[in-house]
Amino acid sequence: MKVVLTRKHYFIYLILFVIISPLTAISQTRVRTPVKIPDIPGFLTLKCDFHMHTVFSDGNVWPSIRAEEAWRHGLNAIAITDHIEYLPHKGDILTNHNRSSEIAKAHGVDLNITVIKGSEITRDMPPGHLNAIFLKESSTLETETWRQAVNAAYHQGAFIFWNHPRPLGHQKDSIGRWYAEHSEMMENKWLHGIEVVNQRQYYPEAHRWCLEKNLTMLSNSDIHDPIQMNFNIAGGEHRPITLVFAKNNTEEAIKEALLSQRTAVYWENKVIGKEEYLTPIFNNSIKIENKPIVLKEKNRIYVQISNHSEINYELELNGEINDVHIPEKVTLYGGKTILFDIRKKDMKLRGEKRLRLPYEVKNLLITPDR
Ligand code: ZN
Repeated sequence: MKVVLTRKHYFIYLILFVIISPLTAISQTRVRTPVKIPDIPGFLTLKCDFHMHTVFSDGNVWPSIRAEEAWRHGLNAIAITDHIEYLPHKGDILTNHNRSSEIAKAHGVDLNITVIKGSEITRDMPPGHLNAIFLKESSTLETETWRQAVNAAYHQGAFIFWNHPRPLGHQKDSIGRWYAEHSEMMENKWLHGIEVVNQRQYYPEAHRWCLEKNLTMLSNSDIHDPIQMNFNIAGGEHRPITLVFAKNNTEEAIKEALLSQRTAVYWENKVIGKEEYLTPIFNNSIKIENKPIVLKEKNRIYVQISNHSEINYELELNGEINDVHIPEKVTLYGGKTILFDIRKKDMKLRGEKRLRLPYEVKNLLITPDR
């Protein structure tokens, strides 16, 4: 029997060659580095970034790359939030407010990264820039007034937050201002959260507003370029991350957590949030390796403390301790075990005693000053 090699056969061979060879070549460079912050009782600690741009507004990357960056940097979920009003690439890229999220989401599915559809409503202050996420249809946000845009997002069940609350173009130290428009948004249930950190900046006033007005704290990259151009990821830096305490990694569970203010801010070497979330994060990070500790005849004893998170916890003595000497300052280095030495003040000290070491963790912030 004679085999005729048709065009179809040729096509199949070509496809196989193309698929097999590049994958084996590039798989070595695609590595995910986890963000090591523990879960808390009842909830997963999801690592999220809810503010970023692509070529579909004023960003400089294709949307699928955002999902890949998130995977590499240990995130669980992202929102793509291209501007509705500001489209400097519109001569090159078609205007379609839904497309960037759709493209990113397709790659997110491949990588198990939850990609949420969002848009940035970009108006002057007040009310300033707002992100609406969990949108169904972004094009309805293209309206004449900011109120119409926010109302359209609200009617889609969006979670809406105020971005970088300090006005753009002002001096770096100029403080953000709460306007009547923000109170109006709260009365209409149009405002659910505020960025306490945007890019590299922390806003203590936004932190206070979240505590006073029961708004959700967020920490986002607002990245426009490839992420490694702004953050030295290879050198151990991380982007600002919103920690979301959710029942699972789905859009529904993330939305429920955001609407219930179950978040914290992970920025540089600090975690900012309510004490009820920061305490279990600390407790689940730390393990005292040798307990109980026996101070027999010796004057000095070494305690080993492990920190399974990636946060370097900076401890400072705050209060009196009677029976023993302990260091003024201790750093519990992320991913390491430290030796902590305790010395008896009174050599005659005997018996069994529970010691409370009055340290304050300086880089876990429950208010701007505490
Ligand atoms: Zn933005």
